Amino acid sequence: MQFSLSDYLDELRPFINVDCGTMNLEGNRQVASQMAAHFAALPGWQVREVPCGDAGIGLEIRNRPAGEPIDVLMIGHLDTVFPVGTAAKRPLRVEGNRAFGPGVSDMKSGLLNVLWAMRHLDPATAQRLSLCICMNPDEETGSNYSHTWLSEVARQARHVLVAEAARADGSLVKARKGMARYRIEFAGKAAHAGNDPRAGRSAVLELAHWTLALDMLNDHERGTTLNVGVIKGGSVANIVPDSATAWVDVRFWNNDDYQALDQSVRNMTEQPFVNGVRVTLAREAYKPAMTPDAGTEQLMALVERCGAKMGLPITWQAVGGGSDANLTAVLGVPTLDGLGPIGAGFHSEDEYLDLDSIEPRIRLLQAVLTELAR
Ligand SMILES: [Zn+2]
Repeated sequence: MQFSLSDYLDELRPFINVDCGTMNLEGNRQVASQMAAHFAALPGWQVREVPCGDAGIGLEIRNRPAGEPIDVLMIGHLDTVFPVGTAAKRPLRVEGNRAFGPGVSDMKSGLLNVLWAMRHLDPATAQRLSLCICMNPDEETGSNYSHTWLSEVARQARHVLVAEAARADGSLVKARKGMARYRIEFAGKAAHAGNDPRAGRSAVLELAHWTLALDMLNDHERGTTLNVGVIKGGSVANIVPDSATAWVDVRFWNNDDYQALDQSVRNMTEQPFVNGVRVTLAREAYKPAMTPDAGTEQLMALVERCGAKMGLPITWQAVGGGSDANLTAVLGVPTLDGLGPIGAGFHSEDEYLDLDSIEPRIRLLQAVLTELAR
């Protein structure tokens, strides 16, 4: 592979300078069709558009006919977290050995690294491996419209490599916390706050009790945490409020801990603090924790061998944020993440891509595939 940073950045720029937050269908279409065109230009690869409901389309890219078992499934997402207008406000910008811009490391460069790795893959390796690449449009909001598709493909796969960015210190990702998001609705009874307050059943008061009670369920030792992140309720000050809503984010390392927590929270809905208030709970998003098993550890050892041969020391991190790696790991398919180039500051204006890491991480991905082809 003859790596050219300026060619790479020329290909990266159109992916950064387009607004493609989750559910931005026009942006999703633009990014997907450019990526599809890049892969369609590679001999031996077929690209299929996969409808992902309200989130737009994903891409399924293969070097073998669909239905054949997959040796390595690579996964990345097309969406970002940024609202319309961000791309115009801060387009791709290079300063020293860093590039900045929305999605530059989370994870447009990850997608591009996969493209470059495939474009310049040793033909003998490509010949021996059945490869599949899935790019979904809604990872940032929990892959609600793509998780069924991703899980189906992953069930046919022997290994999964997710191309989210490597961490700032270069580490890859071997474990990720699971997450769940609840929307909790409180339905009370309205009453005039001056004339007849006792006739009311305050949904806001119930919500306040819940906020404190949920906070008590935090177990920082075991890494099971709850955050009541958004609340709303009531309409005017002189009416006892009959409705309120809370959104709660839950994170955990251990899937059994989460099952127990989920049950406790559901039980709480049966016994409201304020008599007469009804509580309903909806789980809007869920990703099980990604925890390494024996198969994952073998794959880690293989990656470490590849790194050693290249003079690239491989280190690992367990991280709090979830990704699509969580979805495939729970199926028992050995899964590793962080195979993109190095970056940090995700979901913020400080997000950057470490330009010096691009080429070595393309080569690492190729080396891992070559090793898996043996
Ligand atoms: Zn990401």
